Amino acid sequence: MYIDKTSNILNIKAIIAMKDRSLLMIPGPVEFEPAVLQALGAPTTSHVAPDFIEIFGSSISLMRGVFLCPSGQPFIIAGSGTLAMDMVAANLIEQGDNVLVVSTGYFGDRYEEIAKRYGAEVTCLHAAVGGIVTTDVIEAELKKKSYKFLTFTHVDTSTAVKVNPKPIGELGKKYGVLTVLDGVCSVGGEEMRQEEWGIDVAFTASQKAIGVPPGLALIVASPKAIDTWKKRKTNVTNFYSDWKNWLPIMEAYENRKPSYFATPAVNHVCALFVGLNSIIKEGVEARITRHHKFGKAFQKALSAIGLKQVPLKQEYAASTMSAPYYPEGIAASGLLPKIKQAGVIVAGGLHQQIKDKYFRIGHMGAVKESDLYATIGAVESGLHACGYSYDMGAGTIALHEELNRKE
Ligand SMILES: *Cc1c(COP(=O)(O)O)cnc(C)c1O
Repeated sequence: MYIDKTSNILNIKAIIAMKDRSLLMIPGPVEFEPAVLQALGAPTTSHVAPDFIEIFGSSISLMRGVFLCPSGQPFIIAGSGTLAMDMVAANLIEQGDNVLVVSTGYFGDRYEEIAKRYGAEVTCLHAAVGGIVTTDVIEAELKKKSYKFLTFTHVDTSTAVKVNPKPIGELGKKYGVLTVLDGVCSVGGEEMRQEEWGIDVAFTASQKAIGVPPGLALIVASPKAIDTWKKRKTNVTNFYSDWKNWLPIMEAYENRKPSYFATPAVNHVCALFVGLNSIIKEGVEARITRHHKFGKAFQKALSAIGLKQVPLKQEYAASTMSAPYYPEGIAASGLLPKIKQAGVIVAGGLHQQIKDKYFRIGHMGAVKESDLYATIGAVESGLHACGYSYDMGAGTIALHEELNRKE
């Protein structure tokens, strides 16, 4: 019998020890609520068991509440955020369609590639690193030719830059373009009023601000998006992603009827149900306020210890994550392991142009004030260990002041 050498070492205890009690503060996956994890580990039932149908059906309705899109059609599909990007493109783009990509970093660039794969004529407006593409520039492009599909990244995880979706939704209506929001690092944390703002499709993945382990692609499509898909002249070229296969499934579960196209991720859907309920219980508005307050406080703390941040203006800075540059003379290889030694896991750079110059910290989902203190403390002690000279404790003080500031 073939036995992998690592199988003796990598038993389940070792897998648990990979994280143990370190705090996972990357821009997804994040720390999850124990109740969500328990649902994931519950005995697996049939995908057509009445109890599961109830859970799946309710989760679909709860998605409308979280996306603030009462007339939207939710899709809950096994896969990651990239599948959500891919599925939306596969269903809404036909060969030769004009697609406009507004890119604020790595994930916008990824959408350019996906749209091309489905045969689109793609124009991509690239923001400078840390900047945005202004509404005027987008509008000028929409005047040049007739676009079918416009996509932008609400929070680009490679830069921590947040784009305001509201004016883009308005442009979509004015020029008759479908607006597609990549909300993988925003939905469940940032303000995102899909229906009110006229966003045709918004999507995310379970492991970011939604607060459920990686494994689910979550999409909400407006009636206009569904209508556009129905009017396609050609078949969707991706079999798994085709809404023709999935729409009847979502409708069946919501009507509490058994149905099958491909086995849903039963345990993940149960965990999602717990996660979505937790969001609704906190209140979407309260959750947005909490993320906003935490993001601002954490970024003030980073500034207080002298760390510059990738977003060029505070108004572009996300609430769900931060992206500080390393101080002069401090390298990733020195700092990140020291932060880890202090008990907090943060992420390295992702944007190609500045990859080795900055790092990334996620503060979304079930994040608590105590997590922010632990994280700024670990960053401070890491910097200190690297020989960075600054006012030690300044970050913690700034964080405390901002968290306790009366509005
Ligand atoms: C994480 C992320 C993705 C990709 O999601 P995966 O689950 O890693 O496939 C896409 N867009 C944004 C903005 C993200 O943050």
